[in-house]
Amino acid sequence: MSSTLKFTPLDEIEQIHALLYKTFKSKTCHPLSYRRTQLHKLARLVQENAELIADAIHKDLGKPKFEVYMAETGPIVERCLISAKSLEEWSKDETPEVPEWQKAWKPTVHKTPKGPVLIISPWNYPLILSLQSLTAAISAGCPAAIKPSELVPNFSQLLAELIPKYLDQSAYRVVNGGAAEATKLLQLRWAHIFYTGNGRIGRIVATAAAQHLTPVSLELGGKCPVLIDPEYDIDLAAKRILWGKVTNAGQTCIAPDYILTTPSTLPPLLTSLRNHLTTFYPSDSGGPLSSPNYAHIVSRSHFNRITSLLKRTKGKVEIGGKWDEEKLSVEPSVVVLGDATQGGVEEDALMEDEIFGPVLPVVLVESVQEMVDFVNARDQPLAAYAFSENEGVRKQILENTISGGLFFNDTFQQLAVNEIPFSGVGPSGYGAQVLKYGFNDFTHLRSSITMPAAAEPHLAVRYPPYTDDAFKF
Ligand code: NAD
Repeated sequence: MSSTLKFTPLDEIEQIHALLYKTFKSKTCHPLSYRRTQLHKLARLVQENAELIADAIHKDLGKPKFEVYMAETGPIVERCLISAKSLEEWSKDETPEVPEWQKAWKPTVHKTPKGPVLIISPWNYPLILSLQSLTAAISAGCPAAIKPSELVPNFSQLLAELIPKYLDQSAYRVVNGGAAEATKLLQLRWAHIFYTGNGRIGRIVATAAAQHLTPVSLELGGKCPVLIDPEYDIDLAAKRILWGKVTNAGQTCIAPDYILTTPSTLPPLLTSLRNHLTTFYPSDSGGPLSSPNYAHIVSRSHFNRITSLLKRTKGKVEIGGKWDEEKLSVEPSVVVLGDATQGGVEEDALMEDEIFGPVLPVVLVESVQEMVDFVNARDQPLAAYAFSENEGVRKQILENTISGGLFFNDTFQQLAVNEIPFSGVGPSGYGAQVLKYGFNDFTHLRSSITMPAAAEPHLAVRYPPYTDDAFKF
């Protein structure tokens, strides 16, 4: 396995694009049997190389292999196999219920592949975020170009080496590179673009797509709040929130970004967070900074960004707060920002943007309604979490906030459910993924009717010369 990332030459990108269009025109990817075979091959690619993949991601991110198997390789194999089994059902024509007099017209919705698609993916879950969309493209009958992230060079190089060994090279291609290669890809016309990453680049992608009127799915980020009802079991909440935050060192789009709770909850919450942190990363083994079970930060610039947040915050660092510059590792850190109404909280460095690292601010409010108001005063997040056993409180949060998804009494675990869509709303993105939802993104719903000659007497009224009598009831 090569450790240096070979960028795809810019002039090759146009050739790849032309090849994918040629393949699409030839209808090679259309038959369900072809799609099924490619999905099985993709599952085999991941299964047979799971260890190589985990090694590469570990080199890039220090991500524990367990986290790669749990959140990336395992789910992708499973979703390839589910897609292969479900293809027939997803892609079959729909014949909607229509009024009796329209039945003879045979109204039908055909599920048509849109055409060659472009997938641009980020570094934080590099396997699942590139191959999940590829699974959807194969299922929908679309050729695809995948542009993985240059920030995980070991993984992206490995992907470029593995894909040709397993998949049809005339239909599925990896383009490696950074902004220049992505820009070149975006100058070309695609049938759909699926972008996962930050909102700044998301805007560039959507603007480029608009030149060709290309539909886009944007899977972006945001600040995911965690609301804790003071009546909830605080120790359990602390353990589940901490796990969602330390996984991949907080470099997860749906990681808890900040906690909202009441002043009386704060002391037990901090005690429990401290205790669980010590259990996850025992201090006699050196704590998180020395642990093989804790990822590092992906790059020096992200490391500098996160440590600068810790330097600039006016909050009180209650847990953690240290880092190791050589390892690019930052301790899980809990920072109490204080009372939301006292001022300074909204302006704090930790509330500026998505943290995307292992720092967890806590904001204090007086009631669940104030938590709801605080969330509503900010951009709509990708995920919102709330801990409450009270159905009334859960309903209050569900009915009065907006987020991509809303998850009660746990964090991050929603990803294990294959049957629900993963999507943002407003500034956290649009379009959806996971199985049928990804298939739908790459599928055009093509309507048709077939008018029988025998319908002519019923249609006679539509031809000029018009008579108002036709509409006299
Ligand atoms: P990144 O830096 O790897 O960028 C993402 C992709 O954009 C890469 O392939 C990169 O090469 C490409 N890119 C860079 N410049 C470009 C340009 N000018 N035009 C087009 N593409 C360009 O990843 P990132 O953006 O740091 O990813 C982290 C962000 O992604 C966070 O905000 C996180 O919340 C979000 N995210 C969202 C999801 C989701 O499913 N909603 C999942 C993971 C991450």
